[in-house]
Amino acid sequence: MEHPETTPTRPVTSDAAPRRAELLERAQRATGFMPDDEGQALYLAALRAGAAVEGATFVEIGAWCGKSALYLGAAAEETGAVLFSLDHHHGSEENQAGWEHHDPALVDPATGRIDTLPHWRRAVVGAGLEASVVGVVGDSPTVASRWAIPLAFCFIDGGHGEAPAWADYRGWSPHVVAGGWLAIHDVFPDPADGGRPPYDLWRDALDSGRFVEDGACGSLRVLRRV
Ligand code: SAH
Ligand code: MG
Repeated sequence: MEHPETTPTRPVTSDAAPRRAELLERAQRATGFMPDDEGQALYLAALRAGAAVEGATFVEIGAWCGKSALYLGAAAEETGAVLFSLDHHHGSEENQAGWEHHDPALVDPATGRIDTLPHWRRAVVGAGLEASVVGVVGDSPTVASRWAIPLAFCFIDGGHGEAPAWADYRGWSPHVVAGGWLAIHDVFPDPADGGRPPYDLWRDALDSGRFVEDGACGSLRVLRRV
């Protein structure tokens, strides 16, 4: 039998603000490559997609240690969407030993290869996001070639070399529904600030007439499919 005076009271508010604050704070603290203002902008863009499309599906290409998955996962949870967070978890070319974005702590001593999956899992499970965020472990073009679910939101932040970036764009952008969103990270109009491929994809998306601009923050570009 329940004793009202001793039964812990559950919060009676349906206000999403405390949970949102918790998730965005976890995202900010997570290991990864995304300044908080860009992460917040990513969250807000995905929130629009989740609110616009009933039972929305989000995909992110390039999960690393789960940082952007927490920003996107917060929007997914809030709107009833599901995020598929895709990565082979072995790092991009630029993450390998001797390159600019290498972290030796992420190398699995058993294989000598980068393995970010345990870190991704810790971030997502620690945030309690397993009902809204699903990990997809594999090669992006391979998954894209079999993908059939229309996307309300697609975030491209995978390999930034010429071949991987274009493969992600060609493989995933056609899955974005009319009225859906495509976000691209590390878009640098000035070559002095960073590599060309993400910028070239963004230009192509606009020049193709398939997408229009729908926001920007730092190197994050948000596009909407016409
Ligand atoms: N979005 C992340 C950063 C991603 S870094 C964050 O918020 O911190 C880029 C990621 O793309 C790396 O984890 C790398 O493993 C992944 N990647 C590169 N090429 C890939 C491919 N062909 N298939 C799947 N993942 C790939
Ligand atoms: Mg990036």
